[in-house]
Amino acid sequence: MRHKIERVFTSILPVDKNRQGNCNNCGACCRLPNRCVFLKASEDGKEYCSIYTIRPPSCRKFPRTIEQYQHVKEVCGYDFNEDQ
Ligand code: SF4
Repeated sequence: MRHKIERVFTSILPVDKNRQGNCNNCGACCRLPNRCVFLKASEDGKEYCSIYTIRPPSCRKFPRTIEQYQHVKEVCGYDFNEDQ
């Protein structure tokens, strides 16, 4: 829960310039640390964010830092260039 609170309060900061890639809609960040109440199931069995167009910066920018990325790195479509 500490990470979620930290994520919300630091979401006004910019995304790390070393982030690469794109979101693959895996939904892993919508379960940190618990399933988000706005995550809904569609009729085809997939899941979607029911407030996607107005989602808060903490979701919009995730993973903003390599520290946030560590929690989802097995499935997330983003990556961080650690050489720079
Ligand atoms: S964990 Fe990464 S790829 Fe998965 S939904 Fe979140 S930002 Fe997108």
